[in-house]
Amino acid sequence: MSPTSEKMTSRQRVMSALAGETVDRPPVCNPTNVATVELMDLVGASFPDAHRNGELNARLAATGYTELGFDAISPYFSIIQESSALGCDMQWEQKDNWPTVRMSNPIWKSSSDVKIPADFLEHQDTKAITDSISILKREYGDEVAIVGKTMGPWTLAYHVFGVEPFLLGTVDDPGETMKALHALKEATIIYGQAQIDAGADVLTVPDHATGDLVSGEYYKRFLLEMHQELEEELSVPIMLHICGSTVDRMPYIAETGMAAFHFDSKNDPSEAMAAVNGKIRLVGNINNPTTLYARGPSEVRAEVNAALDAGVQLIAPECAIPLKTKLENLLEIPLAVEDWVAERGGN
Ligand SMILES: [Zn+2]
Repeated sequence: MSPTSEKMTSRQRVMSALAGETVDRPPVCNPTNVATVELMDLVGASFPDAHRNGELNARLAATGYTELGFDAISPYFSIIQESSALGCDMQWEQKDNWPTVRMSNPIWKSSSDVKIPADFLEHQDTKAITDSISILKREYGDEVAIVGKTMGPWTLAYHVFGVEPFLLGTVDDPGETMKALHALKEATIIYGQAQIDAGADVLTVPDHATGDLVSGEYYKRFLLEMHQELEEELSVPIMLHICGSTVDRMPYIAETGMAAFHFDSKNDPSEAMAAVNGKIRLVGNINNPTTLYARGPSEVRAEVNAALDAGVQLIAPECAIPLKTKLENLLEIPLAVEDWVAERGGN
């Protein structure tokens, strides 16, 4: 029996697609958050508590599978859990907004300040996610891919040093920048490993060296080798996430050895596929602020079709979705994928 004649579980579909193997249909695999205010109300688990309590976190995260029908559950909703455990000044916000690090008040100035606390993995905000992954693995681990997330050193550097001081440092003293990134990379590895131990099948690594802030050459110079090391250190498939325009650095990203790159709608899917040249799989790239937030199911469907027609292997919103995204637009994504496959008479 070929795997295409049998219906795969969501988990099999994601893992096979990330490995470049044949699938019954492309998975809908969100590397970043798909929880919305509506879903929070549905299951009685809301921001900000759902960031900080494993049981609430798991209850909200599971809706990506149980309510939306996606093939992955991604319980790390934000980008700040490690930064909170490192001691950053936090603003937790309310149900309808994202928690942030108050970067006007950075905790560190140089690489020699970087210290990962001995209780880093026991902090409430790192432990909420590992606890949640354990719960999700137990309840859904046979059926659906559990996607953990560990922040890359570039993003951690923004949080602990402040964006502007960190970026100025890359010009003034690149050697010092490399030292800082190497020190912060340890947090990425430690937290990624803890999530693998808790049951994560896949890890998203967001590392926001975006085209809006730095050049493609920056990516090569500061991050390519570091991302190759992360790929070697962490034993599960990794999905790298960088928002914004990234097509100029995609040929480098394709050299990381990572399983997939989560890309933004600012990049045309066909151009992106050409840029990575089959060396890494792509996941994305349905537009959030316009299509998913402000338009309707037919526009969502058109973007899903455009990504699939270009050969994008895993379908997802481009980034963490706006918290007031309409459910009908999210529900349209897996339906559109199924129809696309049916119209083509299978794989
Ligand atoms: Zn993003």
